[in-house]
Amino acid sequence: MRKLHVKSYGCQMNVYDANRMTDLLTGDSSYVETSALEEADLVILNTCHIREKAAEKVYSELGRIRNVKREAARAGRNLIVAVAGCVSQAEGEEIVRRAPLVDIVVGPQSYYRLPALLAQAERGAKVVDTEFPIEDKFDHLAPATTAAIRARGVTSFVTVQEGCDKFCTFCVVPYTRGAEVSRSVAAIVAEVENLARAGVREVTLIGQNVNAYHGKAADGGQATLGRLLKRLADVPGVLRLRYTTSHPRDVDEDLVAAHRDLTVLMPQLHLPVQSGSDRVLAAMNRRHTRAEYLDVIARLRTARPDIAFTSDFIVGFPGETEDDFSDTLRIVEEVGFAGAFSFKYSPRPGTPAADRSDQITDEVKIERLARLQDCINRQQRAFNRSCAGRRLDVLFEKPGRISGQLVGRSQYLQPVQVMAPTSLIGQIAAVRITDVGSNSLFGRLHAAETEAKALAEAGG
Ligand code: SF4
Repeated sequence: MRKLHVKSYGCQMNVYDANRMTDLLTGDSSYVETSALEEADLVILNTCHIREKAAEKVYSELGRIRNVKREAARAGRNLIVAVAGCVSQAEGEEIVRRAPLVDIVVGPQSYYRLPALLAQAERGAKVVDTEFPIEDKFDHLAPATTAAIRARGVTSFVTVQEGCDKFCTFCVVPYTRGAEVSRSVAAIVAEVENLARAGVREVTLIGQNVNAYHGKAADGGQATLGRLLKRLADVPGVLRLRYTTSHPRDVDEDLVAAHRDLTVLMPQLHLPVQSGSDRVLAAMNRRHTRAEYLDVIARLRTARPDIAFTSDFIVGFPGETEDDFSDTLRIVEEVGFAGAFSFKYSPRPGTPAADRSDQITDEVKIERLARLQDCINRQQRAFNRSCAGRRLDVLFEKPGRISGQLVGRSQYLQPVQVMAPTSLIGQIAAVRITDVGSNSLFGRLHAAETEAKALAEAGG
């Protein structure tokens, strides 16, 4: 049987897309998956356009694959090379021009057409498909098999929405993923039920702007993300729900109510703010102010007092002054984040901010980023330390590095390492946190702790 090697970069959407492409090509037994590039008959690079020099990195990876393709040809095999994902959408035919070894360029909206594109490539054609079709690409994909779901573990992403209409001035997503499109509630419920039947216990709903979700509801109207979550909370076997990535402007009352009412919705939310300065937020076209962001945080905290927030920040956006940056540091202090991703602004070709003449020097960006990260890291350590001695619910995912140890995640997504039987994989157990490391928490099963205490008391 022919062998498929998929290499995926970037966000959860790409992880999900890579899995669906694998399901599509292995589902009818056309291919089996291989982790060894050298053995492959088909290589798919599922690219990401978010990071700096993304396209150049893809071309350098293709340079390495060129040698593998040559070796395959010597051995009498035709290695087909496909480039998928956001770089393929942005670069299109340029990829085949600059890297003639590439047989297929397929955009994120078209990968369900891969079998047909492969048939053309096998006949020697160069195929570029970066259309934004009106039809729902997900309707064309067969559900993942039970074996494939089990191999991926007890947690899963499910795409509910793609694309973005916000047009933040630093971001390429509206150009590479197109306008917002939402899947229907029925299609998402069917996918989540299929995952839960195969043993998935935690589902993270994903979308570039996930809380702009507005899919078709059972009554023919439109469902909000809050209503979708309410429906999914009823799926048997689903113990935890999360969603990412959200926009502060799209946190509506349904979503706040979902956080208040649904115990399966985890008390942890990634809510990017990018900057604490109204001037910079306006220049970024974020469509919310600092006060509005703080108001959303307050409403969610009222609804779910134990909720923890993480966020994204960009420092050194064009025109950012020291005062603007101080506003960012102040918002970090005001909210108190459990963690955050922070980056230096770097221009993305084709975005409005890239053309601004008031770019900030790298020196200033580096210095501001260091100060911001220092502040965020302090908050993250404080949050993790506050968990010491607490009883957290841990969903166990897999064996740890030490024999007899399992690794799971708390309700706040922190990795937690515990000595526990493998029978607990896929289950939630109460864990007393005994120690806090730099990247993980350590704990004891609450049941084991109670037993040890009783034994100590009996002995003493
Ligand atoms: S909301 Fe997010 S995905 Fe949309 S343009 Fe802004 S940063 Fe990009």
